[in-house]
Amino acid sequence: MPASPSSPTLIRTVAELREQVHAARQAGRRIGCVPTMGALHAGHLSLVAYSQRECDVTVATIFVNPTQFAPGEDLEKYPRELESDVQKLAAAEAAIVFAPEPDEVYPPDYCTYVEVEGLSRVLEGEHRPTHFRGVTTVVAKLFNMVLPDAAYFGQKDYQQAVLIRRMAADLNFPVEVRVCPIVREPDGLAMSSRNVYLKQEERPQALTLSRSLQTAVQRFAEGERDAQNILAEMQAVFSEFPQVDLNYVTLADPNRLQQVSRVDENTIALVAARVGAARLIDNTRLGDGMEPFANTAPV
Ligand code: AMP
Repeated sequence: MPASPSSPTLIRTVAELREQVHAARQAGRRIGCVPTMGALHAGHLSLVAYSQRECDVTVATIFVNPTQFAPGEDLEKYPRELESDVQKLAAAEAAIVFAPEPDEVYPPDYCTYVEVEGLSRVLEGEHRPTHFRGVTTVVAKLFNMVLPDAAYFGQKDYQQAVLIRRMAADLNFPVEVRVCPIVREPDGLAMSSRNVYLKQEERPQALTLSRSLQTAVQRFAEGERDAQNILAEMQAVFSEFPQVDLNYVTLADPNRLQQVSRVDENTIALVAARVGAARLIDNTRLGDGMEPFANTAPV
């Protein structure tokens, strides 16, 4: 990687990371951490921007974490773009990029896991039973490696953010967990590294997720408070596209993620569906209005 004045330091080992972060902390700097799996898009970079605003040094981590993928999921084909990721992070002025190899994070005799009970088994956890154990384990490890003052996560992965907040509180991590808004494409699709799996003709199918959320927000704004009525209208959006394999659509309370029968502005609408090779998730708080999405020509 050619060095330039704004190039972040690319670090591959925990020892070197500790050295760099220690020096920054000794100098009295506030450390922000942005954990990612790479293939960076504007959603990830918005987290870096939040960290930059609140911290002196941002450590962006890039690690495709094997323990959060089940056998048969997309671990091998998950996009890996380290070189262009580092360039994007340079432009975003992140100071340190930590991109360890799997063995650096999970040596061969590794056998310790962190699991948030209950919450990790609902919604995404029903469809991906081992997923969150991998997520909370790697985030706990990254917290211990980086020792950040604050860590930045996206609302895009709402359940993940709730779990990480819970884990940080339960295990007394001295880290402020910040959850930042979802960044969308102009047509409403939530940005995701997995969107590259979508074929062009699958785009209208992929937009069912954000359209169903928009329907929920609209019905709430019009005064509807009965969850079943709102859910029926959300499901109607999916019934236009039988090719979409809907995993769940739910209206849940924001902390325990249990389905509610009456909604309020804090209720979270969550959806998950498989569209072609991509498994997509999306959500919104009902009280957060959603701007109309740009109309795109049908493909
Ligand atoms: P990932 O690389 O998919 O593991 O995501 C890394 C972080 O970026 C997580 O905290 C995600 O919630 C967040 N993120 C992913 N997509 C978006 C998005 N569209 N808007 C905001 N944050 C996002």
